[in-house]
Amino acid sequence: MMRQYELVEKVTGYKKDADEAILNKAYVYAMQKHGSQMRANGDPYFSHPLEVAAILTDLRLDEETIAAALLHDTIEDTDATRKEIDAIFGEKIGFLVEGLTKLKRLDLVSKKAEQAENLRRLLLAISDDVRVLLVKLADRLHNMRTLGHMPPDKRKRIAAETMEIYAPLAGRIGMHGMREELEELAFRHVNPEAYDMVTTKLAGLGEINRDLVSTITAELAHKLEKEGIKATVRSRQKRAFSVFRKMENKQLSLEQLSDLYGFRIIVDTVEDCYRTLGVVHTTWQMVPARFKDFISTPKQNDYRSIHTTVIGPSRQRIELQIRTWQMHEVAEYGIAAHTLYKDGKAGGDAGGTAFASLRRTIAQLAEGVNPEEFLEHTKLELFLDQVFCFTPKGRIIALPRGATPIDFAYAVHTDVGNTCVGCKINGRIMPVITELKNGDEVEIIRSKAQTPPAAWESVVVTGKARASIRRATRDAIRKQYAGLGSRILERAFARAGKTFDAEMLAGALPRLARETVDDALADVGRGELASVDVIRAVFPDYKDERVNHRAPTREEGWFGLKAGAGMLFRIPGSRRSRKPANGDGKAIPIRGASGDLPVRFSPNGGAVPGDRIVGILTPGEGITIYPIQSPELTQFDDMPERWLDVRWDIEEGSSERFPARIKVVAINEPGTLAAIAEVMANNDANIQNLAMQRTAPDFMDMVFDIEVWDLNHLNRILRQLTAKPVVSRAERIVGRDEAA
Ligand code: MN
Repeated sequence: MMRQYELVEKVTGYKKDADEAILNKAYVYAMQKHGSQMRANGDPYFSHPLEVAAILTDLRLDEETIAAALLHDTIEDTDATRKEIDAIFGEKIGFLVEGLTKLKRLDLVSKKAEQAENLRRLLLAISDDVRVLLVKLADRLHNMRTLGHMPPDKRKRIAAETMEIYAPLAGRIGMHGMREELEELAFRHVNPEAYDMVTTKLAGLGEINRDLVSTITAELAHKLEKEGIKATVRSRQKRAFSVFRKMENKQLSLEQLSDLYGFRIIVDTVEDCYRTLGVVHTTWQMVPARFKDFISTPKQNDYRSIHTTVIGPSRQRIELQIRTWQMHEVAEYGIAAHTLYKDGKAGGDAGGTAFASLRRTIAQLAEGVNPEEFLEHTKLELFLDQVFCFTPKGRIIALPRGATPIDFAYAVHTDVGNTCVGCKINGRIMPVITELKNGDEVEIIRSKAQTPPAAWESVVVTGKARASIRRATRDAIRKQYAGLGSRILERAFARAGKTFDAEMLAGALPRLARETVDDALADVGRGELASVDVIRAVFPDYKDERVNHRAPTREEGWFGLKAGAGMLFRIPGSRRSRKPANGDGKAIPIRGASGDLPVRFSPNGGAVPGDRIVGILTPGEGITIYPIQSPELTQFDDMPERWLDVRWDIEEGSSERFPARIKVVAINEPGTLAAIAEVMANNDANIQNLAMQRTAPDFMDMVFDIEVWDLNHLNRILRQLTAKPVVSRAERIVGRDEAA
């Protein structure tokens, strides 16, 4: 355990003017408050906040942060209060400790939907003072280091949370050392089999390659010295988790990975970085596609370095990073490093950018505007299959991806769903079938007279909405049949010289073998109960002179209505499956397209099976099928009468192909087209058309019209294209291409 004077000396070692009294008071106060409390491993509890403080001294943080670290568990776990801490240590430290106390409670909740809300609160707390996050991460790091003493189920949950939330957050603020250690510690518990496999294999390879690594290190050091460059050369084997992630992403075995070793050359000045690069490139052959200059173009989180890959002495690929010491500090410690440089001692040039970018993210998230960007950068996969939307009062509604305002309405309350007639998204009136995005504020417009159209059933994605619509539809249909039954009975009773009143049926229910009057009426309306049987049940001595009063069959129906659930509501096609023909006589397998109108796909990037689709009636032309996400649909927003509810009517494993359009942005170099064509060929994507355009000196845009079997096929092609090093972007186009 670190002693009091050691801690103080360490802080004054890197921060001469640090307030020693604050540190001494915090040390004594926390030790006394935690008193004889023990940790799970039997250590005195105080060892934990002390270790957390020690981790933060390695990051060279100021005395307020270190004091807050020492005190971080006192409000939660002892009789200490915010008021007392304010009085002794000042409001700033009190604020930090209280922030950490609030965050501690978040750890206890792990339900997915609640985590999103907690993530927001966490980020709000950080946005007030980023030092809260630094202490929180150090706290989590120490807990992860001592996780072995926890019961197994708790261990797994904490590890998963670390992997999903805290490690990405550390990465987001540029603390890569912290991120890697958190991931590595969590990996062992989240996926023990994979961890054992990768570490065992890495150890074996390390044995084999030890000579190689020292040869390269020595050669580099020697050459740089000859050029008069003062440099430190370090080699390292990649961490188990980052190796595992690469294997997963690239679907490669560990032996196939080319870059298990990284070399880092740290020099004094930017000029030396480029001189070093020259030495490296004249010594070994470079791999052009792998060269990246993050010194001239720093990453968003302030990361700066030169990355290059060369073919090493025994023909293997070697990854090198070249950077200055200051860049190294920033790369390892991220935001924490800026506290060291902020007083201008060491330049402090890009100082605020990482912090500014974090603040921006937090502000966006706090406003509920665009969590997507955040999720994208942090890879919080946990949330990727969900969208989080808000009621006008700010309540969060978590929905599966692809959900519509109708799903939203049903998630709020069944009554809200059943009476939904329209919606506003972020204040604008939008179609109720719009796909919701993260952060959307949704206001449902309701009408008491509404019953949900049966067609909605095929639009919604949540089970609750689907079940409620089905139930409401069934009830509404029943009501219609009951009304019809009433009219039938009125006429039948009149013919028999009687006056009909629905109340009369109540006494006859046992004879009719029906439970309620409505049941009986609806069954008459459906044709399942003959009117003459009802008359006989009500007037047992009624003698019918005419014969042949059989009930009509389903096929005959009543009054020209065809029986069948949902039929009364369907717009406007029949439920029969049909294969309408398109222009060139090929059948398009769409269900719900009405009459004999020709059916065609939207010419600007059509729909493929797996897409949700809508049909648009085009007078004089027929029906055009659009994927529901097509931007072209907005032009029909004001014409609900033209929208048709259609569905795919295609068998699994059908060999039919459908046109799709994709756009590929690729590096403009020889072999690019060949690499792309190879993906297309391997996946049996019929290329129908290709248009190329050079948009920037180094890039070209290509638009391919291809034919695919379905959405899975299309997505597979896009994934494989994206994985090609020459491809910077590959995406599907539906609707007119904005670039065209
Ligand atoms: Mn703690």
